[in-house]
Amino acid sequence: ALAGLAPCVELNDGNKMPIVALGTGRGTASESASVDEVRQAVYWAIEAGYRHVDTAAIYFDEPEVGQGIRDAINNNLVTREELFVTTKLWGDKHREQDVVPALKESLQKLGLDYVDLYLIHFPVAVKEDGSYDDVDYLETWRGMEKARALGLTRSIGVSNFNASQVDRIIANSRVWPAVNEIEVNPTLTQEALVTHCLELGIAVMGFSPFGFVVSRNNPNAPPPRADDPVLVHLSNKYHKAPTQIILRYLIDRGIVVIPKSVNKKRIEQNIDLFDFSLNDEEVKLINGFNKNHRVIDFADLKDYPNFPYGEY
Ligand code: NDP
Repeated sequence: ALAGLAPCVELNDGNKMPIVALGTGRGTASESASVDEVRQAVYWAIEAGYRHVDTAAIYFDEPEVGQGIRDAINNNLVTREELFVTTKLWGDKHREQDVVPALKESLQKLGLDYVDLYLIHFPVAVKEDGSYDDVDYLETWRGMEKARALGLTRSIGVSNFNASQVDRIIANSRVWPAVNEIEVNPTLTQEALVTHCLELGIAVMGFSPFGFVVSRNNPNAPPPRADDPVLVHLSNKYHKAPTQIILRYLIDRGIVVIPKSVNKKRIEQNIDLFDFSLNDEEVKLINGFNKNHRVIDFADLKDYPNFPYGEY
């Protein structure tokens, strides 16, 4: 039996987005899922009730994400219209004329006619060799608007943009970003940036939602871990795992969560979130863990113009 479908948020363009997405980023230094595990995970997730999958060109798993989706559609678990698929444009395709071809390449790999959401993955443009490329993300946004007008994506947005970068897009564009996908978790609560986006009507997708509550092979990272007394208390009170408490904490802040797992049981657990909620005091308690400490720091790009972090 399904634990239940996740509810949707309405985006500022009228489209609806399910508030739990399966993450398909295949990990950084500490772990690495195979593309075949991702194909299987996508299928299991749809079986468990997920209707939203988050991928990116730079994850190099769009073919397997697409295969998992098509397997589920072919087995009549779901229709394409019932799914919400997000993918992202990497920084080596930031010139306006490169955006539509990059999305077409992603669609071909996914085996889909359209995606639901296309994001500028990071505000910094790079050349194919990873060195800096001087392309303004406002130019990139023109390409995103074109991709949407062509119907290749239903919504467009950004990822890893700070507040002033979001404001600069809004001040200079016809179509506003529907979404900003940023890291949010107990040690990086991002209260100012989340509030800024939500007040503008821009939905926030929170990546690396578990922060350091799950092992990142980094014993020096700040608390909480799963055995932290605060999480154990909430876990006992609601009869939920500490990881479910964390996802619910984000949802109760109005954030769309993107838990990644390639394990069937954990995939099921990560969407079993809709029979409880945290109160304001409990949300504040978890906000108290904030240390502005990132899981993902994009350190390779930190010396380039438009690097977004530092403000928050
Ligand atoms: P997550 O916070 O989703 O953590 C993933 C880790 O937690 C994996 O090691 C996973 O292992 C483990 N895990 C998952 N569920 C549970 C559970 N219930 N109990 C215990 N452990 C669990 O981190 P990610 O960094 O992967 O971020 C999630 C997604 O966000 C990415 O996959 C990607 O889609 C997106 N993202 C976007 C970025 C951007 O720049 N826009 C940057 C980084 C991520 P296992 O698989 O074995 O369960």
